[in-house]
Amino acid sequence: MDSVHIAELSWPVYDEKVKHGRTVVLLPIGALEQHGPHMSMNPDVLLPTAMAGRVARNIGALVAPAIAYGYKSQQKSGGGNHMPGTTSLDGLTLTSTIKDVLKEFARHGVRQVAMVNGHFENSMFIVEGVDLALRELRWEGIHDFKVVVLSYWDFVTEDTIRAIYPYGFPGWAVEHGGVLETSLMLHLHPQLVDMSKAVDQEPATFPPYDVFPTKPQWTPCSGCLSSAKPASAAKGKLLLEVCVEGISQQLRTAFD
Ligand SMILES: [Zn+2]
Repeated sequence: MDSVHIAELSWPVYDEKVKHGRTVVLLPIGALEQHGPHMSMNPDVLLPTAMAGRVARNIGALVAPAIAYGYKSQQKSGGGNHMPGTTSLDGLTLTSTIKDVLKEFARHGVRQVAMVNGHFENSMFIVEGVDLALRELRWEGIHDFKVVVLSYWDFVTEDTIRAIYPYGFPGWAVEHGGVLETSLMLHLHPQLVDMSKAVDQEPATFPPYDVFPTKPQWTPCSGCLSSAKPASAAKGKLLLEVCVEGISQQLRTAFD
């Protein structure tokens, strides 16, 4: 029973690893969200989980089961919450879930957590959940609980961007169901990708504002915001390596 995944450990093994507060816990957080006709709906969960597993082995950390539902898909970054399949939480539910899980880890003795985000729309709700947890822990006299919040795509280096997008980088916002996620999925979970269904399309363009209710016609029919056609398993391998290396290095420093 020697796994980096908390859920695969018995409680005494887990207890031994975390009760002294020195072991970092990585908490992946994603979404159930459409990612185009060519891909499963779980890349936002599977990709940060895969990275967290590798980072955990590099730095001697543990990985908690992912939070598998996320904040509502936004039209200009995820196609929109009107899309079939996309299944989202209200902000309050998500922040409460994060707060509850963090406080439980604190009760076990954990003092160092890294939130590994795979779904752009979660970002500020993660910050809010962390803030509420830290505030309540302070009320309970716990002042040494530390949380790092990161999104994996922020660890893709400029050199890697040039190698992956030789024809020009469209920007992370329209990468939904595009080259980044599709390449990583082709490398890690090829059985969940069908490139024969990938749509060749120009990156989506939007006005410089959001509107509610959303206008479904703004979202390309495929649900993707850019083309996944140039994706490949080789690009996915490169992206995985650079993210795992970058996250491992930064967490070593952050948790010292
Ligand atoms: Zn995604």
